[in-house]
Amino acid sequence: MEQKQHIHCLVDTCHYWGEGNRCQAREIMVTSDSFGASQPDEVDARQAKTLDPTPADSCMETCCKTFVSKKGYTKVDGVRRMS
Ligand code: SF4
Repeated sequence: MEQKQHIHCLVDTCHYWGEGNRCQAREIMVTSDSFGASQPDEVDARQAKTLDPTPADSCMETCCKTFVSKKGYTKVDGVRRMS
């Protein structure tokens, strides 16, 4: 299957990370750090359309909410890998 999105990510400890520093998640959700830290893993890309925007003033104040550690992987966010 052709990869439709091109998200480059250097976080190789994430379950969705792939060779060439390419994210292999079908969808991701980026939020402000404060929102990401306050929400459970279940809140992720599948709910993105229904959530309010979470402003940030710099890249240091944002995070990938879809990150899941390779070590502690649990399938709770509803996100799937490309392959
Ligand atoms: S889900 Fe987020 S942290 Fe994980 S590989 Fe994709 S962009 Fe990187």
